[in-house]
Amino acid sequence: MKVIGVLLGVTLSALALGAQSPRYDLVITGGTVIDGSGSRGRRADVAIAKGRIVAVGEIVRAEAREILDVTGMIVAPGFIDVHTHADEVWERPRAENFVKMGVTTIVAGNCGGSADDVAASFARFEQTPASVNFSTLIGHNTVRRAVMGTENRLPTIGEMARMKTLVWKAMADGAVGFSTGLQYVPGTYSKTPEIIELARVAANAGGLYASHMRNEGTQLEASIEETLRIGRMTGARVQISHLKVDSPNRWGASTKALEMIDAARAKGIDVVADQYAYTAASSTLGIRFPSWVLEGGQTKLSERLNDAETWARIKEEMRGLLAERGLEDLSFARIASYRSDPTLNGLSIREVAQKKGDGSPGAQLEVAREMMLAGGASMVYHFMSDEDVQRIMKHPHVGFASDSGVLAFGSGVPHPRGYGNNARVLGEYVRHRKVISLEEAIRKMTSLPARHFHFADRGFVRERYAADLVIFDPATVADGATFERPHGYPVGIPHVLVNGVLVVKDGEHTGKTPGQGVTAAKVPKGSKGFQGVPGGSRRFQRF
Ligand SMILES: [Zn+2]
Repeated sequence: MKVIGVLLGVTLSALALGAQSPRYDLVITGGTVIDGSGSRGRRADVAIAKGRIVAVGEIVRAEAREILDVTGMIVAPGFIDVHTHADEVWERPRAENFVKMGVTTIVAGNCGGSADDVAASFARFEQTPASVNFSTLIGHNTVRRAVMGTENRLPTIGEMARMKTLVWKAMADGAVGFSTGLQYVPGTYSKTPEIIELARVAANAGGLYASHMRNEGTQLEASIEETLRIGRMTGARVQISHLKVDSPNRWGASTKALEMIDAARAKGIDVVADQYAYTAASSTLGIRFPSWVLEGGQTKLSERLNDAETWARIKEEMRGLLAERGLEDLSFARIASYRSDPTLNGLSIREVAQKKGDGSPGAQLEVAREMMLAGGASMVYHFMSDEDVQRIMKHPHVGFASDSGVLAFGSGVPHPRGYGNNARVLGEYVRHRKVISLEEAIRKMTSLPARHFHFADRGFVRERYAADLVIFDPATVADGATFERPHGYPVGIPHVLVNGVLVVKDGEHTGKTPGQGVTAAKVPKGSKGFQGVPGGSRRFQRF
C-alpha cells in the first residue's frame, strides 16, 4: 500500500514556519474535489482547522501547519455506511475494514438487533473511541426479546407499553431511529400494527424507520407494501435495508420494487433504500428454517430437531421454502463462520454433504440440521442476479451500505462486502461497467445517507462541515476481497480523514481514533411538508 502512495507522488510535509501559528491544521492540495452533491468535480484545495473543513478553493500554502499533496486524486466526503452491525465497535476500535474502504461514519443497530442500552453504548464509545464516527438505531428484536423473550404471539397491552418505553428511552439517549429484522426471531412473530406503534414512537422523536423486511424474494412486493404502510401511518422517514431480490424465480422483480418506491415518494413518503454491490447475501443458517422451529431458543430447537416426526415435518417445509424460491438444494449456501467446526468455513452445504459421502438434497438438509444442533453458523447465500443489483444501483434514491460488522482480519470466511463494498462500487460498477457515474456513486455514499439520517454536518465537502474525507485514485481504486479470499483491503484509497485526523495515511492505518458519537439533528416532524396520520396512537393499540 505504501508503494501506491509513493508512486502517485503523495508527500506530506510540515511547514511550521514563522512566529505566527498557522491558520490551518492541514491543507489538502492538488486534488479534484467531488463534494458529495452529485455535481462535477473541480480542482480545489481543502483547508482543515479543529476537525472542520474551513475553506475549499485556492488556499495559501504558507497558512498551513501541514500540507498533504494529493495531485491526481479525488477528494470526497467520507463515506457514510448506514447499515452495519458494528454494535460493539469499541472491541476493535481501529475499525480497519471500514476506514480502509473510505467509511468514516457507521450506523449500528440494524436488522432489528441493537444494544439494549443506547446511552451505555455511547458512553462505552466515548471511553474507547474508534477510528470511525458511530451512530445507532434501536432494534425491534432487541426490544421485543427484552419484554417478551422469543415467544411467537402478539404482545399484551402492557408489553406493548413497555416496548414503547424502551424505544422512547433509546431515542432520548441518541438513537437515530428504529430498525426491524422481520425475517428473524422474534421480530418475525410480530404483526404490522405492533411495528407501527413502535416506529411512531421513534418518528415522534425525529427518528427514521429502517427495515430488513419480512421477505426479499417470493413476497418482496407485499413486504415493501408493509414497510411503506408503516412510513405512511407514522410519518417516519423510511430506509429499506439491503434492497435485493433473493429468489432466482423472482429475478427481475426489482423493477416493480423500485416503481413502488417511486410511487410512495410521489405521495410524500420519504423512502430510500440501501444495497451492497454483490450478488450474494450473508445471514444466519437459522433463516433457512421455518420460523416456528426457532421459537424458544436452542433447547426447544434441539428438541424439535431431535424428534424424528417433527424433523420429518421441518424437512418437508424446508423443501417447500426452497422450491418456492426456485431453488433445488442448499448448494447456494456457503459457510462463513461455524464455531463448532471452523474447518468447514468456506464450504457450501452441498460440499459438506459430499464430504460425508452423499451430496443429495436430503443429505444437505441433514447437514443443516446437525449444524443447527451444534449452535448454528453464519452463512453466505449466493442467490441474486447482477441485473437486479445494477437496476437497483441506478435508482437515485438507493445508497450503499455494507451490512457488515467490524471484522477481525483473517477470522472465518465472511462476506467480502465488509472489506470492499464502497471500493467495489467505485472500481467495478463505476470504472469498469459504467453503471453509474463517479459523482453519483459518491453522492449515494455521502449526502444521500447524511440527509436521510439528518447528519447535519457530514456528507459534503463544504465549509463548516466535519472534516471526514476520503482521498482515492479513480484510475486504480478497487476492492481486494473476494468470496474465496475475503480478508483483503481495497487498493487506491491512500488517505482517509475522520474529524480532520488522518486514520489512513499512504494506505496504512495510523492507529488514531478520532471517531465521535453521532446523533441526528433535531428536525421538526413534518418540516418537509409531510404530516403524519393524525389521531395519535390509540387507533392501533388493539392486540
Ligand atoms: Zn439485514
